[in-house]
Amino acid sequence: MPDETAPPQDPRALLRRHGLRCTAGRLRLLALLRSSGRHLTPAQICDQLARTGSGRHSTTVYRSLEALTAVGVLHAVPGPGPTRYGVSDEPHHHVVCQRCGHVADLPCAPLADAVVRIEQLTGLHPGTSGSLSFYGLCAICGD
Ligand SMILES: [Zn+2]
Ligand SMILES: [Zn+2]
Repeated sequence: MPDETAPPQDPRALLRRHGLRCTAGRLRLLALLRSSGRHLTPAQICDQLARTGSGRHSTTVYRSLEALTAVGVLHAVPGPGPTRYGVSDEPHHHVVCQRCGHVADLPCAPLADAVVRIEQLTGLHPGTSGSLSFYGLCAICGD
């Protein structure tokens, strides 16, 4: 059966479609990020993998993160602080706290008009990633 007909959530089909081998480490990494529903730093990822008894050498985790990000299965959100990684299943924008680096998803649909307006005003557009980042202060850091 061709991969196109596989459910989009099937991690093995997803990795194969991007020409990546389905190593246990990559599958666990993807599963962890999907189930967390958040953007995690490499250190948080290593911690959580260790907690579930599937700890990997951090070098392996970094390499997997790079490989998965290079093909667009994951995406990287630069800090402040360490880069955070999220899955790219649903296109979304990011809001990033400029003090603590906390990242939250921003769904694209309610912001479609705002994104058009931003491009009109500044020429900045989301590009192929479909994603813009907004920086501010999170609820904890803001005073
Ligand atoms: Zn994201
Ligand atoms: Zn913050």
